[in-house]
Amino acid sequence: MNTTEQIKQYILHDCKMDAVGIAPVSAFDYENGLHTPEHILPNAKSVIVFTKRIPDGVIQAAFRRLEDHNADAHSIYAAFGSDLTPNMTIFLMQFNIAQYIERNFGFVTVPLPSGPSQNVTQKNEPMPAFIGPRRIRYLLHSERAAVAAGLGELGWNNLLLTPENGPRQGIGLVITTLELDHDPPYQGEKLCDPETCGICSAVCPMHAIPGADGAFESYKIAGLELKTAQINNNACAVCSMAFRKEFSVKGEVEDLIMKDDPSDEELSEQYLKRSFSDISLDHFPKHYCSRCLLYCPVGRWKERFADKGLSKGVSK
Ligand code: SF4
Ligand code: SF4
Repeated sequence: MNTTEQIKQYILHDCKMDAVGIAPVSAFDYENGLHTPEHILPNAKSVIVFTKRIPDGVIQAAFRRLEDHNADAHSIYAAFGSDLTPNMTIFLMQFNIAQYIERNFGFVTVPLPSGPSQNVTQKNEPMPAFIGPRRIRYLLHSERAAVAAGLGELGWNNLLLTPENGPRQGIGLVITTLELDHDPPYQGEKLCDPETCGICSAVCPMHAIPGADGAFESYKIAGLELKTAQINNNACAVCSMAFRKEFSVKGEVEDLIMKDDPSDEELSEQYLKRSFSDISLDHFPKHYCSRCLLYCPVGRWKERFADKGLSKGVSK
């Protein structure tokens, strides 16, 4: 077994992750101020990307909230489907993988924080890094890295889609100076066609995700020309941080923002009026909308959720 295979086996079997791929640093030809692997680790050669699926039982807990108005079930999704468990599990594994590579092969290896713990400087301080799933300014863009490492494609909803799990998985990243065999970018069956699907746009209560003929971003990853929806992150924040009563999952909130397209300044001003949260690790209230992730049909959604009576689905 060569070094690449040995590391992949360690990640899959010892760390119990679900998939792993390796991208060359040359795949990260980023514009728009995003970091490249060499910004974080000079002489970096490879970016190891791995995924851990979210259990169906956890995803369906979010449907209990959305479809049965069972707000208590929401805490299951909050704890196991979003930041806490997936991020913590991935953090620990990234740390173990960095230790493993440095100890066994002697090459410098950096684990990268994910989700809100990235603590990078976001555009509209003093907002927290997380508002909705996408405003975060990444150290390294996890979803794009996963595409470069051959794990899946980018959906119109800006999330990594894999044939196995759609957008319902966590992503871990490790950068190393070790030269490894690289995987080609994802070239499997096309998973997302917003013209025929459009579910993420339809389910978004803030219309933050345009339809297939709406605004988009385009960029290159590992030589692939990609295009995803240009998401209105401020609109997403109104829902996912519950700046309106209608979006609160638990607890009292005020109607602070009734506009559908608040500016950065308006969002920040209202954010500062929110009370400090002592029940969230990030110290700001989260209400986890996630509809664009929960209802995406990729990853055998129908068989896993609709056919088993776990979700009624949505109509476009
Ligand atoms: S919901 Fe449909 S359009 Fe949106 S990302 Fe998933 S497959 Fe693509
Ligand atoms: S569906 Fe929810 S999480 Fe997704 S973009 Fe819209 S408001 Fe944000």
